[in-house]
Amino acid sequence: MKFSLACGDVMPGCVSRFETGDRDLLLQQVATHAAADHGITEITPEVLQAVESRIVAVA
Ligand SMILES: [Zn+2]
Repeated sequence: MKFSLACGDVMPGCVSRFETGDRDLLLQQVATHAAADHGITEITPEVLQAVESRIVAVA
């Protein structure tokens, strides 16, 4: 089982994709990317929910 997220689903126009076997690691990578590329240094509950709702589990 892998977890996949297309950042563009959360941040329209972004082409970054993330895929890891660890859901927490995925969120960590997205947080790092959001800070570096989108200037989002604070992951609010709203942002976290938006991201989590778009994580796709890949068999
Ligand atoms: Zn992005």
